[in-house]
Amino acid sequence: MHRSSRDRPKGNACVIGSGPNGLAAAIVLARSGLRVDLFETEAIPGGAARTMELTLPGFLHDFGSAVHPLGAGSPFFSSLPLRDYGLEWIHSPAPLAHPLDDGTAVVLERDLGEAASALSEDGKAWRDLMRPFVEHWSEFAPEVLRPIPSIPRHPWLMARFALSVPLSAKTTAHHFRSERTRALFAGLAAHSFLSLDEPLSGIFGLLMAISAHAVGWPIPRGGSQSLTDALIRYVEMLGGRVKVSCRIGSLDSLSPYDPILCDVTPRQLLRIGGSRLTRPYTRRLQEFRYGPGAFKVDYALSAPIPWKARDCARAATVHIGGSFDEIAASEKAARNGQHADRPFLILVQPSLFDPSRAPAGKHTAWAYCHVPNGSTADMLPRLEAQIERFAPGFRDCVLARRVFSPEDLESMDANLVGGDIQGGVLDIRQFLFRPTWRHYRVATARPLPGENPQKIYICSSSTPPGGGVHGMCGYHAARTAVRDLKR
Ligand SMILES: Cc1cc2nc3c(=O)[nH]c(=O)nc-3n(C[C@H](O)[C@H](O)[C@H](O)COP(=O)(O)OP(=O)(O)OC[C@H]3O[C@@H](n4cnc5c(N)ncnc54)[C@H](O)[C@@H]3O)c2cc1C
Repeated sequence: MHRSSRDRPKGNACVIGSGPNGLAAAIVLARSGLRVDLFETEAIPGGAARTMELTLPGFLHDFGSAVHPLGAGSPFFSSLPLRDYGLEWIHSPAPLAHPLDDGTAVVLERDLGEAASALSEDGKAWRDLMRPFVEHWSEFAPEVLRPIPSIPRHPWLMARFALSVPLSAKTTAHHFRSERTRALFAGLAAHSFLSLDEPLSGIFGLLMAISAHAVGWPIPRGGSQSLTDALIRYVEMLGGRVKVSCRIGSLDSLSPYDPILCDVTPRQLLRIGGSRLTRPYTRRLQEFRYGPGAFKVDYALSAPIPWKARDCARAATVHIGGSFDEIAASEKAARNGQHADRPFLILVQPSLFDPSRAPAGKHTAWAYCHVPNGSTADMLPRLEAQIERFAPGFRDCVLARRVFSPEDLESMDANLVGGDIQGGVLDIRQFLFRPTWRHYRVATARPLPGENPQKIYICSSSTPPGGGVHGMCGYHAARTAVRDLKR
């Protein structure tokens, strides 16, 4: 249906920050008829969805996101013709492998039936837990990837899911009898950055597993930059402009624009908003809490990783940490300001499935573990000891490595405050009120006479539904802005 041009808002909008949420916001604004300028501090756009030669020439590394279940399953991104703009998803034969000390690996198969067979004694429990959401992903995804609480369009499905919200991963894992399945579930739940005995950690594990079966855990050919570049081409096709190497230090420099969408976290919003934010809103943003950070290493490798369990070579993502209890101890430590002796790692080996990432016969991989926010500890020996535990001889394959402490991550993307890759801890309070009860709308002080009453919104992963490359924070924030403009 075509809207008449009279229904379309007019004027100049701008977006600060070119992460996936900033780009999603820019697309919604441009589609509504606004002229959009997007400003990005860094020389390469994409925020934590960038791909760069971080080690040696010819080795392409994802600076941040590498595997994109929520990118491929995002209701917004999947509504865009991104394939026509260069995006191609690659699926490894299995989404995930989880090696164990006996030299075998638990493999999460993409097909739910095959996964159930592979998980043998826990197969039925696994299938019964996941099936309603896997089969109804297209109804389920828009419900979970938006602000909560809101009135569900599929109340039965969501009521079933909501029952799991208060459950910790530890409680949810009681569904499973085998230590192997419990270990698999611990790795999935550890993506939450929560302690595995905290509420919500269970729902994270479920969401990660459901997405693996419903859409897979694909990598973009060429790296996450391909997703960013496809989004930018689409923004430009809509008439938007992306200006890189352009840091916004204050909202006062953006007087020609209304609305302004900020793909930044609360700490930066406080800085650039200054006295334009109301006092109560400023106080609430000051109370916003960041979560544990990431300690990340990028590797250029002379050969594929020499896994003891050969099944690990079937999956782009490998969870390293052993048993449920070990992973739980690692995550509890990071949440409580400590460093685990045997940290849980998320490792990605993209070049096994996408040869464009490294020179012929060579490989790339990245791995990170969770550490206290802003930690300065050198986790490299512990991180590599964990990889060696399941892949003896790994160190001999390393041609070059690039280590990112939490501070290094933040220096390359200001949103990664203290190394927090989720835009703020996602506990119950910040799940419901993210970053405040106002969600996307920023409370601004009344303008002085003659001042332009601009509307300001926050659209980063510090808003609902939170971290991950799905663009839904930017989508919902921009839709809110467009609705407000039409009022
Ligand atoms: C190491 C790592 C691994 C990850 N792995 C995955 C994964 O495998 N899968 C997944 O789905 N997610 C992953 N993530 C998380 C995911 O990348 C983020 O949740 C997502 O990028 C958040 O998008 P965003 O748009 O909110 O913010 P960002 O991507 O952080 O983008 C914010 C942008 O705003 C810019 N900016 C900030 N302040 C200003 C300013 N004042 N002026 C101009 N520009 C500004 C920044 O430079 C940056 O480019 C990972 C992140 C990291 C760091």
